[in-house]
Amino acid sequence: MAPRGWSCWRWAARPRARLLPGAAFPFGFRQLLSTLELAPHICVVGSGPAGFYTAQHLLKHHPRAQVDIYEKQLVPFGLVRFGVAPDHPEVKNVINTFTQTAHSTRCSFKGNVTVGRDVSVSELQEAYHAVVLSYGAEDHRTLGIPGEELPGVISARDFVGWYNGLPENRKLAPNLNCDTALILGQGNVALDVARILLTPTELLEELREMINLPGSRPLLDPADFSGLEELIKEAPRPRKRLLELLMQTALKPPKAKEADKRAENPRAWGLRFLRSPQEVLPSPDGSRVAGIRLAVMRLEGSGQNAQAVPTGTVEDVPCGLVLSSVGYKSRPIDPRVPFDPKLGIIPNSEGRVLGVPGLYCSGWVKRGPTGVIATTMNDSFLTGEALLQDLEKGVLPLSPKLGYSIIEPLLKNRGVQPVSFEDWEKLDAQEVAQGQAAGKPREKLVDPQQMLHIIKQ
Ligand SMILES: Cc1cc2nc3c(=O)[nH]c(=O)nc-3n(C[C@H](O)[C@H](O)[C@H](O)COP(=O)(O)OP(=O)(O)OC[C@H]3O[C@@H](n4cnc5c(N)ncnc54)[C@H](O)[C@@H]3O)c2cc1C
Repeated sequence: MAPRGWSCWRWAARPRARLLPGAAFPFGFRQLLSTLELAPHICVVGSGPAGFYTAQHLLKHHPRAQVDIYEKQLVPFGLVRFGVAPDHPEVKNVINTFTQTAHSTRCSFKGNVTVGRDVSVSELQEAYHAVVLSYGAEDHRTLGIPGEELPGVISARDFVGWYNGLPENRKLAPNLNCDTALILGQGNVALDVARILLTPTELLEELREMINLPGSRPLLDPADFSGLEELIKEAPRPRKRLLELLMQTALKPPKAKEADKRAENPRAWGLRFLRSPQEVLPSPDGSRVAGIRLAVMRLEGSGQNAQAVPTGTVEDVPCGLVLSSVGYKSRPIDPRVPFDPKLGIIPNSEGRVLGVPGLYCSGWVKRGPTGVIATTMNDSFLTGEALLQDLEKGVLPLSPKLGYSIIEPLLKNRGVQPVSFEDWEKLDAQEVAQGQAAGKPREKLVDPQQMLHIIKQ
């Protein structure tokens, strides 16, 4: 492929005169149209990593592209703000890169606009040369078992939103006074949730240290880990390191002093394998969760073909809180946009939405809710690249489009008040000031009314 700089230049230098019979227009208007034609107006829906990395790629590799990022929240950054655990501040440093992108004179942030409700995707397509859907995976997978609706059963998605200050989860009030919290799932989110539950608030540190977390002791069944030495030799490096750590904890008893110290710890955590949730058990008056029934499973077959099958035995575990961490899931936001309900993604080929020219997708809504920020970055750059190639090849005709100037009056008529990146910076300054007063890096604002009030000051 030609170097990006060169191909951009070639694209920008494509002759315009044939497309614009200028003699019919007064000079100023003709000049305006010519400028518009050279500057593709691109709209990105969602301001998480996918939205920002797609915007970054477009701005970096196209000298005239104008990118507007629409976001339903009053604040930007998606799961970097509302998902990544508060004790992973280094992960949140990507916000500095996103802020640089937002400060580009060719980029504009439109917060407080829910696409699919305040403005349709078709309206955006009318106003912009291309629309990129980067709206993540905001739903959660359900367990589909009886009792799931009982108070005290919550999705990890909501719990994460609650401890991360997501406005819609601010009133969640999980019951943290019970003895046992049971987490269904053992993925990264489940481990984040376990760590946050176990960690004294003054000491929110890293997951790897969960094994040595002050005040907590691991409860791992050695039988779950014996005989794994040979098997893990072939495992990819990160998984191998994790398994070695778990095996060491489960199989090597700590020295006497350490064992005494651990025994005194008031909190404990454990991993239980080959258990499948069957039913959430209610308290005697039926008002809330009192336990969970798990089917005990065993493995049939070996290697990649191994399958967990029920043994016929069930196990009841008493608990006061059930957190289901069995995955996030995207939802359709506009009936005119194709959506695969089974995979929970927008069907696409390399980020081009199937059957809808000019519509693209990136991030979790493109490939499903897996992968870290770096994975999302690579995937978003690929979508950005596909879009640039379509511009270059003329697949996206550059007829005059006015971008946000078309959308702004629509939003105004519908009573929507978009907020800008400068507005976010006001909120950011307020959060940092509130945090400093309380001796912490920031105190998040969670009440949208209060946030709008601060913005207007
Ligand atoms: C609990 C949790 C912890 C994680 N921790 C880490 C970690 O420590 N390190 C790491 O590398 N990765 C971590 N990840 C993964 C990382 O957060 C994701 O890879 C990444 O955020 C996905 O980016 P995205 O932009 O596709 O989605 P999101 O980050 O979800 O962004 C989507 C954005 O779209 C907006 N939106 C949704 N609907 C609309 C609409 N209708 N109109 C307008 N805007 C809309 C949302 O408000 C949101 O801002 C974590 C994920 C979770 C769930």
